[in-house]
Amino acid sequence: MIYKRKRETMVAHVRKLGITDEKVLKSMDIVPRHKFVASGSEFQAYDEKALPIGYEQTISHPYTVAVMSQALSLDKGSRVLEIGTGSGYQAAVLCQMGLQVFTIERISALGKKAEAVLNELKYHFALRIGDGTMGWQTYAPFDGIIVTAGAPVSPETLLSQLKEGGKLLIPVGSKDEQMLTMYIREGASYTKIEIEKLSFVPLIGQYGWQ
Ligand code: SAH
Repeated sequence: MIYKRKRETMVAHVRKLGITDEKVLKSMDIVPRHKFVASGSEFQAYDEKALPIGYEQTISHPYTVAVMSQALSLDKGSRVLEIGTGSGYQAAVLCQMGLQVFTIERISALGKKAEAVLNELKYHFALRIGDGTMGWQTYAPFDGIIVTAGAPVSPETLLSQLKEGGKLLIPVGSKDEQMLTMYIREGASYTKIEIEKLSFVPLIGQYGWQ
């Protein structure tokens, strides 16, 4: 009951920050974010904060999750690949929006924990432990790919796993600050749209930071 009220306040806050997609707002009103944070910080789960989830990683700010989910703007049943499962919260919001979610995490312990919470909440998804900068060829092409860690450049492999008209959302920049960038596939080329400056933990891998 307390969490439900906190959730409503969080949703009202992201709405005030400019999120207008009702599917996103409704999903965030349903997903119990407090289940995805470290034990002991449940009470802060709905604050506009990134919280530690162990292994030097964080669950993204509610606004970050909202802005990324809104920018994807995919129809129900679309296939989306997430790189950087982390706590599993972003994946849960995408599942709640009715998307087919595929997610990759490089830190095994985090991936397993996220998997357990997502299973407990009865979401359907596919999760793999590994380097997400290589994408997930078995399930490609995707309608959307969302990278929830900051990259130095935009990996070509991910762009190549998009459907025609598919969107890649990726924060690109330095280790401290990145520009959330969207690439839309149009034949052999891509339209690039810069959304806004945000700050993510680093994407580490073959086509990320070393
Ligand atoms: N989407 C997450 C945010 C997690 S933070 C959430 O909702 O909580 C980013 C995550 O990306 C971290 O867990 C980090 O371990 C992971 N990561 C970094 N580089 C990666 C890579 N190359 N492949 C897969 N995961 C990666």
